[in-house]
Amino acid sequence: MSKISVIVPCYNEEDVLPKLFERLGAVTGTWNADYEIICVDDGSRDRTWELLKAQNQKDPRWRCLSFARNFGHQTAVSAGLFYATGDAVVIIDADLQDPPEQVFKLIEKWREGYQVVYAVRTKRDDEMVKQVLAWGFYRILSKAVPFNVPADAGDFCLLDRRVVEVLNALPERNRYLRGLRAWSGFRQIGIEFERHARAAGTPQYTFKKSFRLAMDGVFSFSTVPLRVATYLGLIVSLAAFLGALFTLCQKIFAEQFAKIGLTPGPHGIPTLVISTLFLGGVQLICLGILGEYIGRIYDEVKGRPHWIIQDAAGLDTKTVPEQHAKW
Ligand code: UDP
Ligand code: MG
Repeated sequence: MSKISVIVPCYNEEDVLPKLFERLGAVTGTWNADYEIICVDDGSRDRTWELLKAQNQKDPRWRCLSFARNFGHQTAVSAGLFYATGDAVVIIDADLQDPPEQVFKLIEKWREGYQVVYAVRTKRDDEMVKQVLAWGFYRILSKAVPFNVPADAGDFCLLDRRVVEVLNALPERNRYLRGLRAWSGFRQIGIEFERHARAAGTPQYTFKKSFRLAMDGVFSFSTVPLRVATYLGLIVSLAAFLGALFTLCQKIFAEQFAKIGLTPGPHGIPTLVISTLFLGGVQLICLGILGEYIGRIYDEVKGRPHWIIQDAAGLDTKTVPEQHAKW
Protein backbone atom coordinates (compact mmCIF):
# COMPACT_ATOMS: atom_id res chain seq x y z
CA MET A 1 0.00 0.00 0.00
CA SER A 2 1.31 3.46 -0.75
CA LYS A 3 1.97 5.93 2.03
CA ILE A 4 0.89 9.54 2.20
CA SER A 5 2.63 12.09 4.42
CA VAL A 6 0.78 15.24 5.31
CA ILE A 7 2.74 18.28 6.46
CA VAL A 8 1.04 20.89 8.60
CA PRO A 9 2.98 24.02 9.60
CA CYS A 10 1.57 25.44 12.84
CA TYR A 11 2.28 28.79 14.43
CA ASN A 12 0.13 29.80 17.41
CA GLU A 13 -2.73 27.63 16.24
CA GLU A 14 -4.14 26.39 19.58
CA ASP A 15 -7.66 27.54 18.65
CA VAL A 16 -7.78 25.69 15.41
CA LEU A 17 -5.87 22.49 16.19
CA PRO A 18 -8.75 20.52 17.78
CA LYS A 19 -10.80 21.21 14.65
CA LEU A 20 -7.87 20.20 12.47
CA PHE A 21 -7.38 16.90 14.35
CA GLU A 22 -11.05 16.14 13.89
CA ARG A 23 -11.50 17.16 10.25
CA LEU A 24 -8.21 15.87 8.90
CA GLY A 25 -8.48 12.70 11.00
CA ALA A 26 -11.97 12.06 9.62
CA VAL A 27 -10.92 12.06 5.97
CA THR A 28 -7.80 9.91 6.19
CA GLY A 29 -9.95 6.83 5.64
CA THR A 30 -10.89 8.02 2.14
CA TRP A 31 -7.29 8.03 0.94
CA ASN A 32 -6.91 4.28 0.69
CA ALA A 33 -3.33 4.52 1.85
CA ASP A 34 -1.10 4.36 4.89
CA TYR A 35 -0.45 7.79 6.24
CA GLU A 36 1.49 9.94 8.66
CA ILE A 37 0.73 13.52 9.59
CA ILE A 38 3.69 15.67 10.49
CA CYS A 39 2.88 18.88 12.34
CA VAL A 40 5.72 21.35 12.54
CA ASP A 41 5.39 23.77 15.42
CA ASP A 42 7.13 26.89 14.18
CA GLY A 43 8.12 28.25 17.61
CA SER A 44 4.58 28.91 18.83
CA ARG A 45 4.12 30.79 22.07
CA ASP A 46 0.71 29.34 22.92
CA ARG A 47 -0.37 25.75 23.70
CA THR A 48 0.22 24.47 20.17
CA TRP A 49 3.07 22.17 21.16
CA GLU A 50 1.16 20.61 24.10
CA LEU A 51 -1.79 19.90 21.85
CA LEU A 52 0.41 18.35 19.17
CA LYS A 53 2.20 16.12 21.68
CA ALA A 54 -1.09 15.00 23.18
CA GLN A 55 -2.35 14.11 19.71
CA ASN A 56 0.78 12.02 19.11
CA GLN A 57 0.07 10.14 22.36
CA LYS A 58 -3.45 9.45 21.21
CA ASP A 59 -2.56 8.44 17.66
CA PRO A 60 1.10 7.78 16.81
CA ARG A 61 0.46 8.44 13.14
CA TRP A 62 0.32 12.11 14.13
CA ARG A 63 3.96 13.05 14.54
CA CYS A 64 5.31 16.43 15.44
CA LEU A 65 8.43 18.47 15.87
CA SER A 66 9.00 21.93 17.21
CA PHE A 67 11.46 24.64 16.29
CA ALA A 68 13.55 26.51 18.82
CA ARG A 69 12.05 29.75 17.54
CA ASN A 70 9.81 31.07 14.80
CA PHE A 71 11.61 30.31 11.54
CA GLY A 72 8.70 31.03 9.24
CA HIS A 73 6.13 29.10 7.30
CA GLN A 74 8.32 28.13 4.34
CA THR A 75 11.04 26.78 6.62
CA ALA A 76 8.48 24.83 8.66
CA VAL A 77 7.22 23.18 5.48
CA SER A 78 10.80 22.51 4.34
CA ALA A 79 11.53 20.70 7.63
CA GLY A 80 8.36 18.67 7.19
CA LEU A 81 9.42 17.71 3.67
CA PHE A 82 12.76 16.58 5.02
CA TYR A 83 11.32 14.22 7.63
CA ALA A 84 8.37 12.96 5.58
CA THR A 85 8.67 9.33 4.51
CA GLY A 86 5.58 8.96 2.31
CA ASP A 87 5.46 8.10 -1.39
CA ALA A 88 3.56 11.33 -1.80
CA VAL A 89 3.56 14.37 0.47
CA VAL A 90 0.62 16.71 0.96
CA ILE A 91 1.20 20.23 2.32
CA ILE A 92 -1.76 21.84 4.03
CA ASP A 93 -2.26 24.87 6.30
CA ALA A 94 -3.28 24.30 9.90
CA ASP A 95 -6.05 26.90 9.82
CA LEU A 96 -8.36 24.81 7.60
CA GLN A 97 -8.38 27.40 4.83
CA ASP A 98 -7.36 24.50 2.62
CA PRO A 99 -10.17 22.00 3.12
CA PRO A 100 -8.89 18.55 4.23
CA GLU A 101 -11.93 17.06 2.49
CA GLN A 102 -10.26 17.93 -0.84
CA VAL A 103 -7.03 16.06 -0.19
CA PHE A 104 -8.36 12.89 -1.81
CA LYS A 105 -8.68 14.81 -5.09
CA LEU A 106 -4.96 15.60 -4.99
CA ILE A 107 -4.24 11.93 -4.30
CA GLU A 108 -6.47 10.82 -7.18
CA LYS A 109 -4.52 12.98 -9.61
CA TRP A 110 -1.26 11.62 -8.22
CA ARG A 111 -2.48 8.08 -8.86
CA GLU A 112 -3.24 9.11 -12.43
CA GLY A 113 0.49 9.79 -12.78
CA TYR A 114 0.94 13.48 -11.97
CA GLN A 115 3.96 14.26 -9.79
CA VAL A 116 2.92 17.72 -8.62
CA VAL A 117 -0.73 18.46 -7.97
CA TYR A 118 -1.38 21.98 -6.71
CA ALA A 119 -4.59 23.63 -5.71
CA VAL A 120 -5.60 26.78 -7.57
CA ARG A 121 -7.84 29.16 -5.62
CA THR A 122 -10.91 30.22 -7.50
CA LYS A 123 -12.22 32.31 -4.64
CA ARG A 124 -10.48 33.70 -1.59
CA ASP A 125 -12.26 34.67 1.56
CA ASP A 126 -9.39 36.99 2.52
CA GLU A 127 -9.67 40.75 2.94
CA MET A 128 -10.00 42.87 -0.17
CA VAL A 129 -6.55 44.47 0.04
CA LYS A 130 -4.84 41.09 0.38
CA GLN A 131 -6.78 39.72 -2.58
CA VAL A 132 -5.83 42.64 -4.81
CA LEU A 133 -2.17 42.51 -3.77
CA ALA A 134 -2.05 38.73 -4.28
CA TRP A 135 -3.64 39.11 -7.69
CA GLY A 136 -1.11 41.73 -8.78
CA PHE A 137 1.82 39.85 -7.32
CA TYR A 138 1.14 36.60 -9.16
CA ARG A 139 0.88 38.48 -12.43
CA ILE A 140 4.18 40.28 -11.89
CA LEU A 141 5.91 37.10 -10.79
CA SER A 142 4.81 35.14 -13.83
CA LYS A 143 6.27 37.88 -16.04
CA ALA A 144 9.53 38.09 -14.11
CA VAL A 145 10.63 34.46 -13.93
CA PRO A 146 11.84 32.29 -16.79
CA PHE A 147 9.55 29.34 -16.07
CA ASN A 148 5.85 28.91 -15.68
CA VAL A 149 4.53 29.86 -12.22
CA PRO A 150 0.83 29.12 -12.10
CA ALA A 151 -1.18 32.11 -10.90
CA ASP A 152 -3.14 31.83 -7.65
CA ALA A 153 -1.60 28.50 -6.67
CA GLY A 154 -0.81 28.49 -2.97
CA ASP A 155 1.16 26.06 -0.86
CA PHE A 156 -1.66 23.53 -0.67
CA CYS A 157 -0.39 20.73 -2.89
CA LEU A 158 0.77 17.17 -3.28
CA LEU A 159 4.32 16.28 -4.22
CA ASP A 160 5.58 12.92 -5.42
CA ARG A 161 8.60 11.45 -3.61
CA ARG A 162 10.83 12.25 -6.61
CA VAL A 163 9.94 15.93 -6.33
CA VAL A 164 10.42 15.92 -2.55
CA GLU A 165 13.92 14.48 -3.02
CA VAL A 166 14.73 17.25 -5.48
CA LEU A 167 13.45 19.97 -3.14
CA ASN A 168 15.26 18.47 -0.14
CA ALA A 169 18.52 18.52 -2.08
CA LEU A 170 18.28 22.25 -2.82
CA PRO A 171 20.69 24.13 -0.59
CA GLU A 172 19.09 27.57 -0.46
CA ARG A 173 17.53 28.96 2.67
CA ASN A 174 15.35 31.72 1.22
CA ARG A 175 12.76 29.19 0.27
CA TYR A 176 9.79 30.14 -1.78
CA LEU A 177 8.27 26.73 -2.15
CA ARG A 178 5.66 27.62 -4.73
CA GLY A 179 8.46 28.90 -6.93
CA LEU A 180 10.76 25.94 -6.28
CA ARG A 181 7.89 23.58 -6.95
CA ALA A 182 7.17 25.23 -10.31
CA TRP A 183 10.89 25.42 -11.07
CA SER A 184 11.38 21.69 -10.46
CA GLY A 185 9.28 20.81 -13.50
CA PHE A 186 7.92 17.23 -13.59
CA ARG A 187 4.36 16.44 -14.56
CA GLN A 188 2.30 19.15 -12.91
CA ILE A 189 -1.38 19.83 -12.78
CA GLY A 190 -3.56 22.35 -10.94
CA ILE A 191 -7.02 21.65 -9.63
CA GLU A 192 -9.42 24.39 -8.64
CA PHE A 193 -10.96 24.85 -5.24
CA GLU A 194 -12.35 27.61 -3.08
CA ARG A 195 -10.18 28.96 -0.30
CA HIS A 196 -12.25 29.41 2.81
CA ALA A 197 -11.83 31.84 5.65
CA ARG A 198 -9.76 30.71 8.63
CA ALA A 199 -11.62 28.27 10.91
CA ALA A 200 -10.40 30.03 14.08
CA GLY A 201 -7.58 32.14 15.43
CA THR A 202 -5.91 35.03 13.67
CA PRO A 203 -3.77 34.99 10.52
CA GLN A 204 -0.12 34.48 11.40
CA TYR A 205 0.98 35.99 8.14
CA THR A 206 1.12 39.64 8.94
CA PHE A 207 1.33 42.08 6.06
CA LYS A 208 5.06 42.28 6.67
CA LYS A 209 5.52 38.52 6.41
CA SER A 210 3.42 38.31 3.26
CA PHE A 211 5.43 41.14 1.75
CA ARG A 212 8.72 39.37 2.59
CA LEU A 213 7.40 36.19 1.03
CA ALA A 214 6.46 38.08 -2.12
CA MET A 215 9.95 39.63 -2.24
CA ASP A 216 11.47 36.16 -1.85
CA GLY A 217 9.29 35.01 -4.70
CA VAL A 218 10.64 37.63 -7.05
CA PHE A 219 14.24 38.01 -5.94
CA SER A 220 15.00 34.30 -5.50
CA PHE A 221 13.91 33.43 -8.98
CA SER A 222 14.49 36.41 -11.16
CA THR A 223 17.19 38.87 -12.07
CA VAL A 224 14.69 41.06 -13.90
CA PRO A 225 14.74 43.68 -11.08
CA LEU A 226 18.43 44.20 -11.79
CA ARG A 227 17.51 45.04 -15.33
CA VAL A 228 14.82 47.40 -14.04
CA ALA A 229 17.66 49.38 -12.48
CA THR A 230 19.35 49.63 -15.85
CA TYR A 231 16.13 50.71 -17.55
CA LEU A 232 15.40 53.31 -14.89
CA GLY A 233 18.93 54.64 -15.31
CA LEU A 234 18.48 54.83 -19.06
CA ILE A 235 15.12 56.59 -18.79
CA VAL A 236 16.45 59.13 -16.33
CA SER A 237 19.53 59.79 -18.43
CA LEU A 238 17.37 60.26 -21.50
CA ALA A 239 15.05 62.63 -19.65
CA ALA A 240 18.06 64.60 -18.40
CA PHE A 241 19.52 64.75 -21.90
CA LEU A 242 16.25 65.99 -23.40
CA GLY A 243 15.93 68.53 -20.59
CA ALA A 244 19.43 69.83 -21.27
CA LEU A 245 18.71 70.06 -24.99
CA PHE A 246 15.51 71.95 -24.32
CA THR A 247 17.20 74.44 -22.00
CA LEU A 248 19.94 75.02 -24.53
CA CYS A 249 17.46 75.73 -27.32
CA GLN A 250 15.53 77.97 -24.98
CA LYS A 251 18.66 80.05 -24.40
CA ILE A 252 19.63 80.22 -28.05
CA PHE A 253 16.17 80.87 -29.48
CA ALA A 254 14.92 82.89 -26.54
CA GLU A 255 12.76 85.19 -28.71
CA GLN A 256 10.94 82.43 -30.51
CA PHE A 257 10.36 80.59 -27.26
CA ALA A 258 9.04 83.77 -25.63
CA LYS A 259 6.43 84.06 -28.41
CA ILE A 260 4.93 80.69 -27.49
CA GLY A 261 5.04 81.56 -23.80
CA LEU A 262 8.16 79.60 -22.91
CA THR A 263 10.40 82.42 -21.70
CA PRO A 264 13.38 80.91 -19.89
CA GLY A 265 12.89 81.18 -16.10
CA PRO A 266 15.60 83.10 -14.29
CA HIS A 267 16.28 80.76 -11.43
CA GLY A 268 15.51 77.20 -12.28
CA ILE A 269 15.45 76.28 -8.60
CA PRO A 270 12.31 74.09 -8.76
CA THR A 271 13.77 72.19 -11.71
CA LEU A 272 16.92 71.66 -9.73
CA VAL A 273 15.10 70.41 -6.65
CA ILE A 274 12.82 68.10 -8.60
CA SER A 275 15.58 66.61 -10.70
CA THR A 276 17.81 66.08 -7.68
CA LEU A 277 15.01 64.36 -5.78
CA PHE A 278 14.12 62.26 -8.78
CA LEU A 279 17.68 61.15 -9.40
CA GLY A 280 18.21 60.49 -5.70
CA GLY A 281 15.07 58.36 -5.62
CA VAL A 282 16.08 56.32 -8.63
CA GLN A 283 19.54 55.75 -7.22
CA LEU A 284 18.16 54.61 -3.88
CA ILE A 285 15.78 52.20 -5.58
CA CYS A 286 18.65 50.73 -7.56
CA LEU A 287 20.79 50.43 -4.45
CA GLY A 288 17.89 48.71 -2.71
CA ILE A 289 17.55 46.23 -5.54
CA LEU A 290 21.27 45.45 -5.36
CA GLY A 291 20.92 45.14 -1.60
CA GLU A 292 18.18 42.53 -1.96
CA TYR A 293 20.52 40.31 -3.93
CA ILE A 294 23.57 40.94 -1.77
CA GLY A 295 21.56 40.24 1.37
CA ARG A 296 20.48 36.92 -0.07
CA ILE A 297 24.04 36.03 -1.07
CA TYR A 298 25.17 36.90 2.45
CA ASP A 299 22.47 34.69 3.96
CA GLU A 300 23.55 31.78 1.82
CA VAL A 301 27.30 32.10 2.43
CA LYS A 302 26.92 32.12 6.18
CA GLY A 303 25.70 28.55 5.79
CA ARG A 304 23.74 28.49 9.02
CA PRO A 305 21.23 25.69 9.50
CA HIS A 306 17.81 26.37 8.07
CA TRP A 307 16.09 25.50 11.33
CA ILE A 308 16.88 24.37 14.87
CA ILE A 309 14.83 21.60 16.39
CA GLN A 310 13.75 21.93 19.99
CA ASP A 311 11.67 18.84 20.50
CA ALA A 312 10.06 16.01 18.56
CA ALA A 313 7.48 13.29 19.11
CA GLY A 314 7.16 10.22 16.89
CA LEU A 315 9.93 11.41 14.59
CA ASP A 316 13.60 10.57 14.42
CA THR A 317 15.12 14.00 14.08
CA LYS A 318 18.69 12.78 14.48
CA THR A 319 19.13 12.61 10.75
CA VAL A 320 19.73 16.14 9.71
CA PRO A 321 20.03 17.75 6.30
CA GLU A 322 23.51 17.71 4.86
CA GLN A 323 23.89 21.45 5.33
CA HIS A 324 23.19 20.90 9.06
CA ALA A 325 25.73 18.14 9.42
CA LYS A 326 28.39 20.31 11.01
CA TRP A 327 26.06 21.10 13.89
N1 UDP B 1 2.70 29.68 9.82
C1 UDP B 1 3.93 29.22 10.28
N2 UDP B 1 4.89 30.14 10.63
C2 UDP B 1 4.68 31.49 10.54
C3 UDP B 1 3.44 31.94 10.04
C4 UDP B 1 2.48 31.01 9.68
O1 UDP B 1 4.15 28.02 10.36
O2 UDP B 1 5.59 32.25 10.89
C5 UDP B 1 1.67 28.69 9.42
C6 UDP B 1 0.30 28.92 10.05
O3 UDP B 1 0.19 28.26 11.29
C7 UDP B 1 -0.64 28.35 9.01
C8 UDP B 1 0.10 28.61 7.70
O4 UDP B 1 1.46 28.83 8.05
O5 UDP B 1 -0.80 26.94 9.16
C9 UDP B 1 -0.48 29.80 6.97
O6 UDP B 1 -0.48 30.93 7.82
P1 UDP B 1 -1.68 31.98 7.86
O7 UDP B 1 -2.98 31.27 7.89
O8 UDP B 1 -1.39 32.92 8.94
O9 UDP B 1 -1.45 32.70 6.47
P2 UDP B 1 -2.53 33.06 5.35
O10 UDP B 1 -3.43 31.89 5.21
O11 UDP B 1 -3.21 34.25 5.88
O12 UDP B 1 -1.70 33.31 4.14
MG1 MG C 1 -4.40 31.00 6.62
